[in-house]
Amino acid sequence: MRIDVLTLFPELFERFFAVSIVGNAAREGLVELAAHDLRDWTHDRHRTVDDAPYGGGPGMVMKPEPLVEAIEALAGPKGPDREARVVLMSPQGRRLDQPACEALSEVPRLLLVCGRYEGVDQRAIELAVDEEISVGDYVLCGGEIPAMVVIEAAVRLRPGALGNPESARTESFSTGLLEGPQYTRPPVFHGLSVPEVLRSGDHAAVAEWRADRARELTRCRRPDLLATSGEEES
Ligand code: SAH
Repeated sequence: MRIDVLTLFPELFERFFAVSIVGNAAREGLVELAAHDLRDWTHDRHRTVDDAPYGGGPGMVMKPEPLVEAIEALAGPKGPDREARVVLMSPQGRRLDQPACEALSEVPRLLLVCGRYEGVDQRAIELAVDEEISVGDYVLCGGEIPAMVVIEAAVRLRPGALGNPESARTESFSTGLLEGPQYTRPPVFHGLSVPEVLRSGDHAAVAEWRADRARELTRCRRPDLLATSGEEES
C-alpha cells in the first residue's frame, strides 16, 4: 500500500510517519508514506495557494490551479485509468467509520488531500477528487489531522502491522460492539480489584464475561450499534 498526502504543512507528518504502529509499518515496508507540499505546484513568486471567495464572505478559498496540477502529478488525471484513489478530507464528506477504514486499508494507492482556510474551490473537487471523507461532525482548521486519522486507521489494519492480529478482530466496532473493560497488574489498585473471572484461567468463562460486558456497555452507551450488530436490543 502507498499513501501520499498533499498538504500546506508537510512537516506535520514527519514525526507521525516515524513513530509507533505507523512508523513500524513504514520501516517494515508494509506501507509507503510521503507528504508533499502543495506550494511546490505554484508558479508565482509568493507561492499563492488561496484567494478571496466569489460572492464575498469571510476567509479565503484554496485556488484550483495548484491543487489540480498537484493531484494530477501525484495520482494521474481523474478517470478509470487512475491508479490512486484521491480523497479530499472535508466536513462535507462521508463520515468515516470502521467498515470504511477496512475498505480504505485495501486500496493499493491513496492520495489524501488536506484542505485549509474555508475549504477548496468546488471545480478542483469536481475535476480531480474521487471521494470526500469527514472524520466527524465538527470542523477543524485543516485536513492534516483527518488525514492522519485515515492513515492510522487504515495502516493498523494491514496484515502484519499489529503485533497481534487478534486485537483488530476483537476491538470496538470490528465486532459491531464496543469492547468492554480491560485490566492489567496489579490485582488490587486503590482498593479496586480485577474481576475474579479474569484471573480464573477459565478461557470459556473469560470469553463469556467479555462478551457480556461488551453487550452491556454497548446497550448502555451506544444502543444504535446494536441495531446493526445482529445483537438483540432489549
Ligand atoms: N468552511 C468549511 C470548513 C473548512 S475547514 C465548512 O464549513 O464546511 C478547512 C479544512 O479542514 C477543510 O477543507 C478540510 O480539509 C479540513 N477539515 C475540517 N474539518 C474536517 C472534518 N470534520 N473532516 C475532514 N476534514 C476536515
